[in-house]
Amino acid sequence: MFLCPKCGGETSVNSSRRTLKNNEKRRRQCSACGFKFYTYEILKTEIEQRDFLEKTLENLLYEVNLFRERITSIITTPSLPKDCQDCTENNSGIDL
Ligand SMILES: [Zn+2]
Repeated sequence: MFLCPKCGGETSVNSSRRTLKNNEKRRRQCSACGFKFYTYEILKTEIEQRDFLEKTLENLLYEVNLFRERITSIITTPSLPKDCQDCTENNSGIDL
């Protein structure tokens, strides 16, 4: 049972249609607020599911590595404060 994404109320299926790829598209309506939306049921064989998960994992690892490289470059690149041109001068009034 899909709950209404708008109010959380119970929904019913108004119509259902099978697509060319043997998937199913259902038109739903909330019985509380009348909101209409669609849900899709997608057929996946175990092999397709495994391939999908492997590809998803590969993509995630790729994104994680990119993120890790960016973080590493930020951490290892020294950034000077804006007023650092004065850092070499002693403006403290104290003799060093
Ligand atoms: Zn609703």
